[in-house]
Amino acid sequence: MSSLPPADALPSYLDPTHLGPWGVYLQQVDRVAPYLGSLARWVETLKRPKRALIVDVPIELDNGRVAHFEGYRVQHNTSRGPGKGGVRFHQDVTLSEVMALSAWMSIKNAAVNLPFGGAKGGIRVDPRTLSQSELERMTRRYTTEIGVIIGPSKDIPAPDVNTNAQTMAWMMDTYSMNEGLTSTGVVTGKPIALGGSLGRVEATGRGVFVVGCEAARDIGFDVVGARVVVQGFGNVGGTAARLFHETGAKVIAAQDHTGTIHNEFGLDVPNLLAHVAQHGGVGGFGGAEAIDSDTFWALETEFLIPAALESQIHAGNADSVRAKVVVEGANGPTTPEADDILRDKGILVVPDVVANAGGVTVSYFEWVQDFSSFFWSEDEINHRLERIMRDAFAAVSHVAREHSVTLRTAAFIVACTRILQARQVRGLYP
Ligand code: GLU
Repeated sequence: MSSLPPADALPSYLDPTHLGPWGVYLQQVDRVAPYLGSLARWVETLKRPKRALIVDVPIELDNGRVAHFEGYRVQHNTSRGPGKGGVRFHQDVTLSEVMALSAWMSIKNAAVNLPFGGAKGGIRVDPRTLSQSELERMTRRYTTEIGVIIGPSKDIPAPDVNTNAQTMAWMMDTYSMNEGLTSTGVVTGKPIALGGSLGRVEATGRGVFVVGCEAARDIGFDVVGARVVVQGFGNVGGTAARLFHETGAKVIAAQDHTGTIHNEFGLDVPNLLAHVAQHGGVGGFGGAEAIDSDTFWALETEFLIPAALESQIHAGNADSVRAKVVVEGANGPTTPEADDILRDKGILVVPDVVANAGGVTVSYFEWVQDFSSFFWSEDEINHRLERIMRDAFAAVSHVAREHSVTLRTAAFIVACTRILQARQVRGLYP
């Protein structure tokens, strides 16, 4: 067997000291390699995206000027099924971030045993600076540019940060018009009128809530009366906060790009959701005091739910965290150094690849419903979702105990084993 080329001859993206989410992902893979037995022979597969596309997205702005945006679609792995993962619009999106997010989709889909590989897309743009018609033109041009590699059996996009059901409707329509057919299964997270699934909008937050309850049961504390701190009050954080609140937990603090608020007696979550819908964020909410970010991370709480962006819990703030459980609603919110600090403090981290898998799980249901043109009730969706989330949490906890590793490493052991088994039996071709 030939050995790897010297490190300096490796592509830069194989360097685990690479800063940012892709470097975080590489370190997570390195941690799991010793547990893969003979499959470790294939581990290099996980460190290289199968396919990465960079596209120019030019649009005419409302003022007549032409603007260019950079767009990406990365298919990290398709050994177990077509690529699957969201599309985000954010001013900080980079190719290496999308690579990491696509890789986490491979791990997530395998960890909960959905028949998908992993993919992700994004456009480097602040969507708040665009009008609705500019957004539509940008989404349609992006879809046309990535149209060569997406499709219901190839790669299926979905919503992510700053994208939603309307974005998916434009993508579905553009792809369908270009192909000369009506393809509902090319994206998930669509409006119900286009073959979307009941329960999809809430699915990620519901999954966060379900595994949070499982974690509480595991550790032995009651969710009723438990304190909850949430970073990000969008679709994921907002829904999770609402479900915890409805169960009798106390959401004591919330943070997003508009501010950080705290009320030790519990925020009025329904009113806060209405405030966010009206003002675009938690900032300025009446029933709470404004606090600074350091105080926020150090709040004593049962649940801490990072549900915004990557690398929010890092070496600089992990030591101040005083939560019993961290439930990762976001993708990649905890760096490997912070993971070690939280583990040493005895804080249980339910990793993103399990905790936020509810969204893609209901995306899978949507894709199946579109293919069969037979639609399920919301009860049926939520029931199946809960079962998959509970089973995934139990399976990963079991492996964590067996090997005395964190839930993240256990989830990676489960997922990488599934991906590399598929890789091995498929073989190399040509
Ligand atoms: N963007 C979501 C995630 O990060 C959902 C992806 C999907 O449904 O394909 O898991």
